[in-house]
Amino acid sequence: RDEVNIISGALDLKKKTVSEVMTKLDDVFMLSYEAVLDFTTMSEIRRNGYSRIPVYERDRSNIVGVLYVKDLVLMDPDDDTPLKTLCDFYQNTCFFTFHDTTLDVIFRQFKGGDRGHMAFIQQVIDTGEKDPFYEVIGIVTLEDVIEEIIQAEIVDE
Ligand code: ADP
Repeated sequence: RDEVNIISGALDLKKKTVSEVMTKLDDVFMLSYEAVLDFTTMSEIRRNGYSRIPVYERDRSNIVGVLYVKDLVLMDPDDDTPLKTLCDFYQNTCFFTFHDTTLDVIFRQFKGGDRGHMAFIQQVIDTGEKDPFYEVIGIVTLEDVIEEIIQAEIVDE
């Protein structure tokens, strides 16, 4: 039965879009580019437990980078290092995709590895008042896609 589920999950990848499986922007744990990596911030990062943390500037939908928590292993909270110093040093690029990208496409891109395993989902916002613009509405990771393939939730460590 597991095999049947996995096969049907894999076949359904073409039918589902990233916006159907994303983690909504409001639920994403992020840090401001202006944050300082002091004891309070580092404790918060540890408590949240994510391995990748989007970095925004001014507005939460304005993503400017990704912090890999592994890059914090050599940091001393007593140094009060600005997050921007780390971001500027590592220059981790963000991978953007559109809300209607299907899961088979994003899965192939995640597998490729060169863009990382987290993508920011953009949607066109057209209010009619000003020119339409793109806004980030959520994130999708390789784990979200794998859960669709196996049709089960992966409980985090
Ligand atoms: P991690 O390696 O941090 O456990 P995964 O890529 O395994 O993250 O994703 C696990 C789940 O957590 C997915 O549903 C993903 O969308 C979500 N997720 C990943 N990073 C964050 C974050 N910074 N804030 C909120 N949710 C996140």
